[in-house]
This record gives sequence, C-alpha cells and structure tokens, in this order.
Amino acid sequence: MSENKETKKMKESLFYTPKHISKRVSAEEIQAADGFCEKYKGFLDKAKTEREAVKEIIAEAVKNGFSQYEKGGKYAPGDKIYVNNRGKAAMLAVIGKKGVSEGAKITASHIDSPRVDLKQNPLYEDSELALFKTHYYGGIKKYQWTAIPLALHGVFVKTDGSVVNIKLGENENEPKFAITDLLPHLGAEQGKRPLASGIKGEELNILIGSRPFDNSDEGDNIKLNILKILNEKYGVTESDFLSAELELVPAHKASDIGFDKSMIAAYGHDDRICAYTSLMAVLDAGTPDKTLIAVFADKEEVGSDGNTGLNSDFMKNFIWDLAKAEGLDGYEALSRSECLSADVNAAFDPTFPDVLEKKNASFLNKGIVVTKYTGARGKADTSDASAEYTGKIRALLEKNNIVWQTGELGKVDEGGGGTVAKYVANLDVDVIDVGVPVLSMHSPYEIVSKLDVYMAYKAFLAFNG
Ligand code: MN
Ligand code: MN
Repeated sequence: MSENKETKKMKESLFYTPKHISKRVSAEEIQAADGFCEKYKGFLDKAKTEREAVKEIIAEAVKNGFSQYEKGGKYAPGDKIYVNNRGKAAMLAVIGKKGVSEGAKITASHIDSPRVDLKQNPLYEDSELALFKTHYYGGIKKYQWTAIPLALHGVFVKTDGSVVNIKLGENENEPKFAITDLLPHLGAEQGKRPLASGIKGEELNILIGSRPFDNSDEGDNIKLNILKILNEKYGVTESDFLSAELELVPAHKASDIGFDKSMIAAYGHDDRICAYTSLMAVLDAGTPDKTLIAVFADKEEVGSDGNTGLNSDFMKNFIWDLAKAEGLDGYEALSRSECLSADVNAAFDPTFPDVLEKKNASFLNKGIVVTKYTGARGKADTSDASAEYTGKIRALLEKNNIVWQTGELGKVDEGGGGTVAKYVANLDVDVIDVGVPVLSMHSPYEIVSKLDVYMAYKAFLAFNG
C-alpha cells in the first residue's frame, strides 16, 4: 500500500525520527571519522588507567602549547594551561577573550574504568601456586573477568617516597595474568548460583606463579620466588604492597569489530571515549570567547568521592582561582558557567531488548546521545538538566549539523546509574549529560560505533565554539 504523498510530507515535518548517521553525513565525513578513530584506538592502548590517561593527556597538551598552571598567575586570552591533580585527574584550560567573567565552558569526563585492584596485602601461596587477592573497583560482572588475559598496571610507593611504576602484560612477549574459573565438567554446583554470584568477589584471585625458589622443603617457596623476581625487577619487598595502587586491566588492545570495521571494541571506552574526544576538542579550539575547561576526573566509577573525584573541590577551586585573578567572585564565575558532563550511555542491544524502552533509548550510529537525566527510582540521584539548558544544547547541535539522539539509562525502575553531572550541577552550573552509546558497557570488551565517536568530538568542538 503506497502512502499518500501529503501524509508522508506531514510526517516528515512533524515526527521525530532519528536516522542512521550515514544517511546524514557525507562520504568525506565518514572517512574523517574512521581516521579520527585510528588515533583514538592508539590512546586507548596507551592509557588504560587513570594515571596513564593523565600522563597521555598532559603530554598531548604540552605538545600543543599548554603549560603548567601557576596559582595566582596572570593569564591572557589564548593562554593554554593544565593542572595535574595528584597524577590521577587533570584539567586543561584555554583562557577566553572574556576570561571567566561570563562563566566558563566545561567539559567533564572521567578517566577511571571498572577493573580489579590488588588488596593491600595481596600475595599468598596455596597448593604450590602463587596468587594475589583482589578487591574489584566499580561495577563489574565478575564472571566476565575470569579466563581472559590481564595486565598489571600501577605504582608502588616506597617509604623513602620513591614511586615505582608498573606496567606488565601489555607487550606480546610479556607475561599476562589471569583469574581462573572452574571447568564445566565440575561446574554443576557453581552453575546453580545466580549469575551475579557465579564468581564471587573473594574468588577473583590472580594467578601469578608456580615455580619454587629452590628445591628445599621450606613452606611458601613459590611465594618467595615471586618476591625474589619482584625485588630484582622493581626493588620492592612484600611490605611495599601496603602503599601501592596496582590494578588488573584486560591485556588486549583496541580492535575493529565487524566485516565493515564500523565499530571499535576495547577495554574502558567508558569513559576514555569522552576524555579523548573532549581533549581533542580543546586542543583544536582557537581562542574562545569564554574560558574553556576540560576536566578529566578520577573516581567516577566509585561515586566520585575522594580528592581526585568531582565530588571534591578541585575543579571549583581552580575556577575560583581563575576568577580571583580577574578580580571576580568565584561563585559568580561558576553560576554563569555551563557544562557538558561527558559520559557514555547504554546502547540498545537487540539481544537484550527488555531493559530499555525503545523510544527513549540510544542506539549505535544515531550520534552523540544527550541524556537529560540519569539516576534511578523516580529520578533520584540526578541533576536533571532544565528544559532551557537542554534546549540550548539541542539548538547548538542542530545548528552545527551534529547528529544526536536522546537516551535514558534503562527503562523506568529497571536499574539506572549516575555520572559526574550532579556534582558539577551542585556548584550552581548548568549541566547536561552527553556522550557515546556503548554496547557491553563495563565489560572487558566494550563496543562503540566509530561514527558516534566522531560526532562526540564534533559536539565538544561546537560547544567550545
Ligand atoms: Mn562513565
Ligand atoms: Mn561507568
């Protein structure tokens, strides 16, 4: 049955029907997106932890003319500065022609990702195997972390204050680490556990060695051999684990997915995808009207508490200092500021359609997702952007031909989650969540669409003006 032409026209002008990006952009732009994503994949492989992300971000910034911020310093329009917050969070700023007198433009992403951390006294031997005890970080489905290659990243801090950096398992010839799982033959009882406890927290033990130090009958000989190796390689003893932050992350590299190579699978798209795109958008900004600030926060995956998370004052203090240098009250600069809380959202997955409500879910390849509210249980724990600010961002995206979509994090009362948005909003800043839709979010192998990644970059660029 053919549709009346007039009806079709009416529908086109009155209905809201988001389309696949490839129907909305040129072949050149698709090529540009693919090129952009090659560099993004490189960043993913180099910066798997918050500490490594800070190093990469600041190295990129320095290459692009940024210098370390000096408190109380006088800065002129076009000056580019960075702040390194304890090696685990960072901020870049480009001073605008109007400074912060009319507020700053903030993009706030996070650079920590769910992972498996070592406990403070982790090393033990059992049945002639050496293992590490762990405590997972952030929301993980624990069973997904067994039987995959893991790499060890992090630092030991010794009592003399020296820091020993560890990154082992990333190169092909380096050893990997693993969490073992039961064979199906003996997994019948385990198989009766609910999926959430199929692997329990105290079962996330890391296998790290199996050969003894010597042939004596002394106990803990395998453990001794591991400590000997660690001592030779890093100069540490067992007590140095007490002041260490050591993190197990998937050892695999980012890779294309699909015959058409349209997607990228990697560990930690959440939220290095927004960190990278907002970073590039600040590096590529000219001299803006309003001061631009890109924040790369730690601790989001555990609730943003702590002095490197956005529930602390580190960003607020920076903006107050910038305001003070301009003879302005800090709170005035903040209340005039606006922010894109740059974080991922759950993409609709046709294999699990029941958890999302299709009219309000985000989809791969429909562009950057704008999330007015996150939270759970009747919009609790969310700042819920105002219609006015949502309208402003919507207009900005439309004006700049940026393909975007709306998306909420799951059906009503299905679950939910939060971002840094509310912590920034609580500083009296206008904030809305924008980001990239992700499949298999919080798994060791998250998947995104290349075209969506590029749209995120373009959106941040347009926001920065
Ligand atoms: Mn996130
Ligand atoms: Mn997350």
